[in-house]
Amino acid sequence: MRGMAGKNIIKEAVPMRKLPMNERRTTFKEVALGYNLEEALKEASRCLQCTDPPCVKACPLHIDVPGFIKLLREKKFEEALNKIKEVNDFPAITGRVCPQELLCQAACVMGKIGEPINIGRLERFLGDLEISRGIRIPSLPKSREKKWP
Ligand code: SF4
Repeated sequence: MRGMAGKNIIKEAVPMRKLPMNERRTTFKEVALGYNLEEALKEASRCLQCTDPPCVKACPLHIDVPGFIKLLREKKFEEALNKIKEVNDFPAITGRVCPQELLCQAACVMGKIGEPINIGRLERFLGDLEISRGIRIPSLPKSREKKWP
């Protein structure tokens, strides 16, 4: 389907693979397996790159969602991580536990015509990518240094 300035619109979100039922009884591994690179790029490609993005306003941290998604789909993974880390040092954690379905994803424009962008899964993908390549210690912005005892 085409719409919104001629952009190809993909209404269906990329599903997240899950651990098979029979394996869940024998392991403490996570059930939700996360996106692989191909899945993350496909989901990122669905973002409309809204100029006045409601997802950013709905995020308590005001993460630049279209900004990090754009960098992700350009395969600029470190830059995408840095974009998130301007306000959030723990994308692997917030990508899992933040209630995106009530916040950024609830506000996503794509949700009006199909399924919202899985912002949390994309965040998790980048956080996990960082961990798999060795965790970087984030540098705290000056404004936050004083909060440490
Ligand atoms: S509202 Fe949805 S489609 Fe628009 S920029 Fe945010 S994530 Fe992308």
